[in-house]
Amino acid sequence: MSGTAGLVIPCKAAVAWEAGKPLVMERVEVAPPQAMEVRMKVKYTSLCHTDLYFWEAKGQNPLFPRIFGHEAAGVVESVGEGVSDVAVGDHVLPVFTGECGECSHCQSEESNMCDLLRINTERGVMLSDGKSRFSIDGSPINHFLGTSTFSEYTVVHAGCLVKINPLAPMDKVCVLSCGISTGLGATLNVAKPKQGSSVAIFGLGAVGLAAAEGARIAGASRIIGVDLNPNRFEEAKKFGVNEFVNPKDHDRPVQQVIAEMTNGGVDRSVECTGNINAMVSAFECVHDGWGVAVLVGVPNKDAVFMTKPINLLNERTLKGTFFGNYKPRSDLPSVVDMYMNKKLEVDKFITHRVPFSDINKAFDLMVKGEGLRCIISMEE
Ligand code: NAD
Ligand code: ZN
Ligand code: ZN
Repeated sequence: MSGTAGLVIPCKAAVAWEAGKPLVMERVEVAPPQAMEVRMKVKYTSLCHTDLYFWEAKGQNPLFPRIFGHEAAGVVESVGEGVSDVAVGDHVLPVFTGECGECSHCQSEESNMCDLLRINTERGVMLSDGKSRFSIDGSPINHFLGTSTFSEYTVVHAGCLVKINPLAPMDKVCVLSCGISTGLGATLNVAKPKQGSSVAIFGLGAVGLAAAEGARIAGASRIIGVDLNPNRFEEAKKFGVNEFVNPKDHDRPVQQVIAEMTNGGVDRSVECTGNINAMVSAFECVHDGWGVAVLVGVPNKDAVFMTKPINLLNERTLKGTFFGNYKPRSDLPSVVDMYMNKKLEVDKFITHRVPFSDINKAFDLMVKGEGLRCIISMEE
């Protein structure tokens, strides 16, 4: 055990006090991990659109003050009672959805929706005792997605922590802890395009471009990128996207434009925007008879998906996924290995880097739609 094991650790954290207001660098106290929990030192973290959504709290329930952040890499500082899978000093990725290993979902080959540790965006406390491990002057600060990585130290359930190859560079593989694995898995594990097929990707942020990367790896020949932001198209060429559609350039629905381009529809589509209209278009643009659409974007909490049932009767399939259907602890180490073996390129997703003290710049970039992933270095 490290010298700090069992003690409260005071450290820096970027606290969101109010919806949409810049995060404030605060001195927080991080309590020791309880049974089945791990305290980790966060080394690198990055910003995913899901953080931005819950920070803006426009279409989500507001819960403040809160420490956001869920895409990260770090080192185990200490472990609570009963933790045997990771030890002090292990390199780890926290994941917003966990794997208890025992429930019916964890036992099923088809699901990663663990009963105990599946994503819960509303909870701001730890599962074991319903309390927060973060406080300022004795007042609790809410957790986010069970990860809260915008803090130098955080406490995570052991089932949400993945031990990785210690040789993997943490300032790169941190992006595999959410966005890149999600997009990649949405295509490879859920949409499953065949060699030579056509795939439409809605939303060309990091998650969508990782979905495009999956389509490239699967051997798709037409990869059609759809985005409202034309600045995305040039960058997307590096990810194998070879045709582009901006819905704003057309006076008819984008699903119609895509159907015309593809003789009736694409074989697969993957939606990575969070926008309900894009979700419906992503479904309606797949070919009847065999088309499969996969929803990945996190929607506004009141959004309702509306389509004519005949679209389903005509043998189209609609699916959705969290974390690209990867079981975090079982499957993520192999995604890290795909990067180490140069099968998966991660570096091209990293367009910006900032020291922790400049974390609000990462938010500004994402709000403006600039760049893909911004790595936040905790030790600078
Ligand atoms: P991002 O902001 O980097 O990219 C989103 C892109 O979608 C932008 O380029 C934007 O211009 C585009 N867009 C928005 N509305 C559109 C529309 N109507 N039509 C076409 N394009 C549109 O975000 P990101 O970090 O890549 O995340 C993408 C989505 O995936 C978010 O909704 C995020 O919450 C979600 N997400 C889901 C999971 C999961 O497990 N299901 C995991 C990670 C992220
Ligand atoms: Zn994410
Ligand atoms: Zn489980």
